[in-house]
Amino acid sequence: MGLEAALPAEGFLTTQLRRVINWSRRNSLWPMPFATACCGIELMATASSRYDLARFGAEVMRFSPRQSDLLIVAGRIAIKTMPVLQRIYQQMTEPKWVISMGACASTGGVFDTYAVVQGCDQFIPVDVYVPGCPPRPEQLIEGVMMIQRYIDQEGMPPMDGGKRVGLGLAVAPTHAVRPQPVGLQY
Ligand code: SF4
Repeated sequence: MGLEAALPAEGFLTTQLRRVINWSRRNSLWPMPFATACCGIELMATASSRYDLARFGAEVMRFSPRQSDLLIVAGRIAIKTMPVLQRIYQQMTEPKWVISMGACASTGGVFDTYAVVQGCDQFIPVDVYVPGCPPRPEQLIEGVMMIQRYIDQEGMPPMDGGKRVGLGLAVAPTHAVRPQPVGLQY
């Protein structure tokens, strides 16, 4: 991991246990993809070699909620599908995080109909909203990094009266593509 090169021979390192735990948590987010529509293709692209989500330790897509701590909702959610999404969220391991990817997941998008949920945050706590139709992989990576920064600084997710509340962060839409890879800002 490069630690050997950074440390002098037989050197030692001191830190706080909390920092080590936060460091390991932020670098090992395991996504649970809930991709129901076209945003899912961008989600797949984000994990592929060109964008390489593995650089952020989050490439281990799990299709079992019990092995996941980052729910990525990508695509529109039908009313009939929402109980499934809620069940998956409940079964995920704590501490867990949620990204709402794309206009459909966050607002229903252009599907202003009785059959489509007008924002999954009505039913599950959303931490980061990634705008776009669809968002580019870079934007999704920005969303993952927002959660990483929060974990690094705060550790555990916010609670209100014993109930989990979403962070409510949003990735700012921009056309200025930043060079990849982007380092984690402190
Ligand atoms: S936001 Fe756009 S790209 Fe994403 S699922 Fe909806 S229609 Fe498809």
